[in-house]
Amino acid sequence: MLKESSLMKQNIHPDERPLHIPQDPIEVGGLTPLTTIDYPGELAAVIFMQGCPWRCRYCQNGGLLDRKTSHPLPWQEVIEFLSTRQGLLDAVVFSGGEPTLQKGLIRAIKQVKKMGFKIGLHTAGIYPERLSELLPLIDWVGLDIKAPDKDYQSITGVKGSGIRAWQSAQIVIQSNVPHEFRTTLHPDIINNEQIDRLIHDLKKLGAENFALQSCLTENCLDASLSSKSHQLFHTVHHHKYHTLFNNFTIRKN
Ligand code: SF4
Repeated sequence: MLKESSLMKQNIHPDERPLHIPQDPIEVGGLTPLTTIDYPGELAAVIFMQGCPWRCRYCQNGGLLDRKTSHPLPWQEVIEFLSTRQGLLDAVVFSGGEPTLQKGLIRAIKQVKKMGFKIGLHTAGIYPERLSELLPLIDWVGLDIKAPDKDYQSITGVKGSGIRAWQSAQIVIQSNVPHEFRTTLHPDIINNEQIDRLIHDLKKLGAENFALQSCLTENCLDASLSSKSHQLFHTVHHHKYHTLFNNFTIRKN
């Protein structure tokens, strides 16, 4: 309200506000200035958006889950940093937390895209409707698919989470936006039969890019998760999945 009234005093209509002031607040929890692994084939910076409504047992980003952080990175500082990287970086990835949680994300993306960067998005597909709205602005999306639809709740702690994630997967495929689906493996979280079902369901949707990644266990939300994340890799029959996808990747930490 305070901002609106000061704009009114300056006779600036809200629709004519400079683009660098996002309409909705942007809560940024952190930034990685340079990465080669978060957007395939591109040099990128990663913006970590604060907040996520799920509580996945293996989440590594506990500090990003609350909607507010005591040490937010002001959006203007993010933009100032990116302005020093124009021509040096190819892309900016919005990650989290769950970036689609924030209503201000769309304006933030528009602003960064206007600076000449490709836009990457890491999401768990928690808000399918918002994802639909964002996809026309996105150049590449990495979507977590954690389990078959009905097995989601035991990982995220949230009823109905699987429906949302799988709806998002369908939306991503229909959008034709370049993408990767990825599934994190840990023997306490998902078993071989569930992996088979998940892959069957993804193929049925028409997925062609898929990655299996082993779970990091040092900073998991659920401290009881053991460090045996590599074990499942030995029993997953990777070769049979290779033939199913145009691009199939295995990431062992
Ligand atoms: S959806 Fe992602 S950020 Fe949210 S709790 Fe799960 S792993 Fe963490």
